[in-house]
Parts: sequence; structure tokens; C-alpha cells
Amino acid sequence: MERPGIIKHRAAALRPAPNWTDYEAERAGFSWDGVRAALDFLPCGGLNIAHEAVERHARGEQGERVAFRFIGEQGQSDLTYAQLSHQTNRFANVLAGLGVGRGERLFVLAGRVPALYIAVLGSMKRGTVVCPLFSAFGPEPIATRMSLGDARVLVTTPTLYRRKVEALRDRLPGLRHVLLVRAPGEARQEIPGTLDWDEAMDGASGLFDIAPTSADDYALLHFTSGTTGTPKGALHVHGAALTHWTTGKYALDLHPDDIYWCTADPGWVTGTSYGIVAPLLHGVTSIIDEAEFDAERWYRILREQAVTVWYTAPTAIRMLMRAGPAPARVSTYPALRMVASVGEPLNPEAVWWGEEVLGHPIHDNWWQTETGGIMIANTPGFDIKPGSMGRPLPGVDACIVTRDADGAVHVATEPDTVGELALKRGWPSMWRGYLNEDARYRKCFDGDLYLTGDLARCDADGYYWFVGRSDDVIKSSGHLIGPFEVESALLEHPAVAEAGVIGKPDPTVGEMIKAFVSLKPGYEGTPALRMELLGHARKRLGAAVAPKEIDFLPSLPRTRSGKILRRLLKARELGLPEGDTSTLEAGA
Ligand code: AMP
Repeated sequence: MERPGIIKHRAAALRPAPNWTDYEAERAGFSWDGVRAALDFLPCGGLNIAHEAVERHARGEQGERVAFRFIGEQGQSDLTYAQLSHQTNRFANVLAGLGVGRGERLFVLAGRVPALYIAVLGSMKRGTVVCPLFSAFGPEPIATRMSLGDARVLVTTPTLYRRKVEALRDRLPGLRHVLLVRAPGEARQEIPGTLDWDEAMDGASGLFDIAPTSADDYALLHFTSGTTGTPKGALHVHGAALTHWTTGKYALDLHPDDIYWCTADPGWVTGTSYGIVAPLLHGVTSIIDEAEFDAERWYRILREQAVTVWYTAPTAIRMLMRAGPAPARVSTYPALRMVASVGEPLNPEAVWWGEEVLGHPIHDNWWQTETGGIMIANTPGFDIKPGSMGRPLPGVDACIVTRDADGAVHVATEPDTVGELALKRGWPSMWRGYLNEDARYRKCFDGDLYLTGDLARCDADGYYWFVGRSDDVIKSSGHLIGPFEVESALLEHPAVAEAGVIGKPDPTVGEMIKAFVSLKPGYEGTPALRMELLGHARKRLGAAVAPKEIDFLPSLPRTRSGKILRRLLKARELGLPEGDTSTLEAGA
């Protein structure tokens, strides 16, 4: 069906009215000092995310408002702001009692259960740096990240600990404490080297003086993937709260009475920045669905919980589209006011699907682990160009840059020039370093500009359009996956001589992980070996990271300097032109 290239905004019909309706005026009048005035700050003048997110509301009229509503197998349970304050104080006291100090690192490996949220916010109160891990990771990605991050404490469940951590504990000499969170009714087991969460919490006081952190103190650590080497630990500071508050206001259009649902898992940055911090900063109620995707249940949650603002992801939207309109049309969604999406390109079809099935177009927005918060967005006060990521938010200056033959960076002045998306540094949630990798961090900047690694174009109206990645990282189900990590796990198998991993376009998950493998002498590429390798990778990496397809090749194409040419593997797989092959090793 032929559809217009623009969806006109309906700001006048929206109640409450959008927070942002004059694009230029709001940007011109914006200052980060103005945002500082909207926050509370600690009595000592410092800034702590947990204070802004929890305490500020817990002490005021908002104390009895529900902060998190958990929808679990056994029904729903609520945590008010006052209860969240009490529980997070107790957890901060647990850490203090264990001697875990400011700046030390706590990892969380759990499903979306209350303890995860309490641990994240309680650690921030203590000044301990939190690193949430995706619970679908296999043992290898977990051990790599905990070891790189020098984990001092782990909060997890008995099952996840037994399955994924226990056998690797000798690789984690710095890990001093493991707290195990049991499911409701789950019997306590004696597991050596662990403590029971309930017991630790029961003995802890509900009063705690928040650590006097400053805006520049580290609060969160999020691992992200590059093309080479180990995962990169992106360090974020408490000052990021300024961006989270601002983007909650402009990009998600949060208003005080909103019922908000972010479907992202806190094991990834969206699930923390927008599944925990931003909604709490605005004092709204968040819905947390503990279970995995299920179209009918999701529609039921939207309807029964009267969700007003919904933040989800393209893969989820495509899965809903695949389930067909019938489950959605069981009801209408009168409370819903705003739907947004992030993480991968959102095709125009999906934007229109929102309009037709939910009654609202999907507002795509763009950001990444390093930016800490949303930078570019379609928002309800403005026209949407389906397929575009929107325009820069107040406080964000974006541009497109190209490089000349000498590698020098130039800001593009012509609309629609394809180049690398760059951001002028200065927004508060910019990550402050890759753990132990200063050179890798510095390489991301050219003077005042942060080079994002994404290729994009900006049209004459200032809307940004995603073109692709400038590197080989893969986006599968919205999760950034480093090919190197997958290749390394495959290489651990005795049959594998070389491995090259690419993202193969997939109509549902965006990109599917596909591996090419050459075998050592004496091994044959049989279907049985393929199954064995798929199983090996799944066991080591977990289902979210493991390849779904493996092809055997006699050898893999490499540059003369020995690097596997994933670009060429991908071009060959997709039947695309092979591009410049001048650096290809002879015979490959
Ligand atoms: P992560 O750091 O895991 O959040 O992944 C960030 C990357 O996801 C970006 O650098 C983009 O490549 C991709 N991404 C995020 N949002 C969008 C979007 N709206 N459209 C296209 N790609 C996106």
C-alpha cells in the first residue's frame, strides 16, 4: 500500500499535552543548568541517582505511589516509592556490613525480579558501581565481564549461580560475596561460598545515609561489544541523571500520572536507563513484566494496566506484527498516549502498524550504550517521518561527518550526505571511559566530536536516517553482539581452525548470527559436527549470543595482515558485490 512519507502530529488532541511542541524554541532555551534546578541534589551538594530517583519522591507526597508493579507468575506485587526507599536502604546497609565500599563493583545476574531493582538502586546509594548482566548470557560472557569488571559482589539466583557461575568461580578471585535471591516459596539450599538474600536483608536497617557522590562519580558499568578484542566496559556517572530526566521529559513525554512500561531487560543499557532510572526520576509508575515475550499477554498488560507510555524495540514490534492483528484487536487501548522504540532500525511498516493496530504511530529513537541516554528521537509533538530516527533532543548537537583521503574528519554541510553520525560532547550521560582501555576510548573522539560508529544521513528538515554500522558488530533482537566473542568460543572447540561471524539479515530479529568455520585436518564438516558446534556455542555463550547457523568453508578470507574479512563473508552470503578486495590474502 502506498503511504505518505509523513505522519502528521496530533499534539492538540493528546491529553496531557506533549511536553515539547516548539522544536527550535525549546532547544534554544534549553540549558543543563535549567535541568539541575529540576533535581534535588544531596544535602552536601552532591548528586546520586538513587536519591533523585527514589528518596526525593519517597519523602514527599509521592511516597505511597507505586514505583514498580511486578507482574510475575504468581500474580502482581507493588513497591511504592516509600517501600523502595526502605528496601534499597537495607540493601545499602547489607553492602556496608559486608565491607563493600564506594567505587567497588557489584554485578547483578537475574530476571526482572524485585531484588534486581533493589540491588541496583541500593548499590548506587552506597556508591558501589553496578553492572547488570543479561540473564540469558551463558557462562563465558558472564565470566569475561565479571573478570574484566573486577566483580566484588554478585547478586543472582540459586539456579543461575549453579548453572552459570559456580564452575567459573576460580576465574573470579576478586569475587568476595554472592547473594542468592530465592523465588517466592523456593526452599533455601546451602551452597558453599554464598549468602542468602532474605537473611541478609532481614538483618539490615532501613535507614541509610546516601554516599556523598558527585556528578562525576561512577554509578553504572555497561558492557558493550566491539568488532575486536574483549567486550568494552562503558563507565557511566551519577550525573547521567540529568540526561535521563531530560529525555524522560522530551523523548518519552513522561507526565506525573503516567503508567509506563519499558520492555527492555535491565541487563542492557535501555533496561537500566529507561527501565529503572528515567521513570523513577519522573516519579511515575513502571510496569515490570517478569516473563518473556508473549503477544497475547503483552496486549493484555497494555490494556489491563492502562499503560500510557510504552517503550519497546523493533524485534518485539515485528514479533507482534507476525502474531497478526487478531490478538491486538481483542480490545482498544484508550489509556495509551505514546509508543516509542529503540535499538535497531524501525521500518516504516512498523511505524504504520502502530498507528493502525494500537492507534498510535511508533516513535523511533536513537542512542547507544556510550551515550547513556536518548540523543535523537521522534516525539509526539512533531511530525514523524516513518523510517527516520527523528531529530536531536534539547541539549544534543548531532552532525554527519566524512573523512578525506588523509583520514581527517569534516562536518557535512549538504543535506543527505551519508557519513558517520557524530555528537558534540558535553551531554551529561556521555560515558566516561572504557574500563582499563584509555586508548580505545580516546579513539572514539575527534576534538570535540564523539564518533558513534553508525552511518547515517540528515535530511533538509533535520531528521536523521540510519544507514548502517561502520564496523562488524551485530544487532540481533536489539542486542549488540561482538563477532569476536562468538568466534573465540567456536575456536575453543577442538575441530575448529578458523571462525568468522556475521549478522545475516532476518525479518524478525534484525540480524541473525551466522558463523563460518574452517576445520582442522582430520575433521569433516558433517551435519553431526555442525550440530555439535551449535550446541557447544550455545552452552558457552547462551542462546542470545550463540550462532543459529554454521557453514563450513575450506578456509576463511583474510587480509594480508591476517584479519578475517567478515565484510567479504557477508557480501558472499548475501550475493552482494565484494567491494575492495585489494587487501585480500592471495587465494582467499
Ligand atoms: P547498544 O549500545 O547496545 O544500545 O547499541 C547501540 C547501537 O544500536 C547503535 O549504535 C545503532 O547501531 C543501533 N541502534 C540504536 N537505535 C537505533 C535506531 N533507532 N535505528 C537504528 N539503529 C539503532
